[in-house]
Amino acid sequence: MKRREFLQSSMAMAAGAALPTLGAAAEPASVGKPVVKSYRQLGKTAITMSDISFGAGKLASASMILRAIDQGVNYFDTAPDYGSSEALIGEAMTKFKQRDKIYIASKYCEAIPYPAHLAIGKSKADYIAAVDASLKRMNLDYLDVVFVHAIGEKSASVEQEQQRLLDATMLEATEALKKAGKVRYLAVSSHGPNNLEPLLTTAVASGHYDIIMTAFNFMKFPQLPEVLKMAAARGVGIIAMKTLAGAKESQVEAGAAVFEHAAFRWVLKHPQIAGLVVTIKTVDDLNLYLQASGSSFAAADQQALDLYAARHGQNYCRTGCGDCMGSCPQGVDIANILRYQMYFEDYGDEKRAMQSYAALSHSASPCASCQQPSCTAACSHGLPVANKLQAAHRTLSFTMVA
Ligand code: SF4
Ligand code: SF4
Repeated sequence: MKRREFLQSSMAMAAGAALPTLGAAAEPASVGKPVVKSYRQLGKTAITMSDISFGAGKLASASMILRAIDQGVNYFDTAPDYGSSEALIGEAMTKFKQRDKIYIASKYCEAIPYPAHLAIGKSKADYIAAVDASLKRMNLDYLDVVFVHAIGEKSASVEQEQQRLLDATMLEATEALKKAGKVRYLAVSSHGPNNLEPLLTTAVASGHYDIIMTAFNFMKFPQLPEVLKMAAARGVGIIAMKTLAGAKESQVEAGAAVFEHAAFRWVLKHPQIAGLVVTIKTVDDLNLYLQASGSSFAAADQQALDLYAARHGQNYCRTGCGDCMGSCPQGVDIANILRYQMYFEDYGDEKRAMQSYAALSHSASPCASCQQPSCTAACSHGLPVANKLQAAHRTLSFTMVA
């Protein structure tokens, strides 16, 4: 059964046992629709977040935010470099008046195409101006969370990225923003591919960060559980992302759970995780994903994960992996290119993928004529890396074919 058919049949069976919701204006009540059934404490913060939360990287309309609020989602993750996402949240906030009922997280970024993270060397005024601009776009007085975003994304050394994590100017700006009541908590996010675990460990150990948001799914991250334990012991809140392991097309097999539900339950069975952020583009996404809220991991879930791994394991570049780093003599940015290809093919985020690819300093242009594809041998998961890079270059390049 296809995912959409499953969703339609399960929605048709849904009774109207709705939980109390936040009562957003301008949208129908959530009766008969899936709603959030579990809220969890986010470390030592005063945030209790919906276990399934809203990634607004591909936000299509303000009404999606209002609909999600109505169905109990209370945590929204956006960024200045997510296209019109902040502006659409701003439009939603002109209609939704209960600001204190929801949490909004944004990033220290410029409002230009992704990736536009503020880099080392930016002034205190730049950080403050970035937050002020986010607040203005979203019609808000304050952000609940501001992120140092995508640590380990660039092919930088651990030391260079540690400097960005512990940058005194950024920390000073954050303190000023907190004192001014414009920001409540500082967070850091990472989807690798470089040094994900060591960088998050640095963030946690520094004592400066209230929250970490990490890529985490059933197909990789052997060392991450140790980071999660350390963060939890120090009261640092933990949010998961990239939980769908590539979000490749999945089928619902007899006896197995729905893949998306299984993947979410696998992540949420880790007690340190407060919630996950997943990109929600459509009403179908929202309704499908919320069906997993508050449920427990079971044997049928493991079956769904095993089926997905068997079908896609040789084609999915593990987010946060980076095991092949340094294997290309030309310095091709392998893991980031394959991630952008994933954004294009599996997330339907073509524009962002192509813009991000265009901004890379080491694209896959040398791969078409490469005689010794050492990257393929270096992949610890058996991916045909050179072939994938050649395909990615064809897909992501702006070059027009006559
Ligand atoms: S195919 Fe060759 S040029 Fe391309 S990443 Fe692999 S080793 Fe580098
Ligand atoms: S290509 Fe292979 S080794 Fe490299 S990051 Fe992806 S999964 Fe890991």
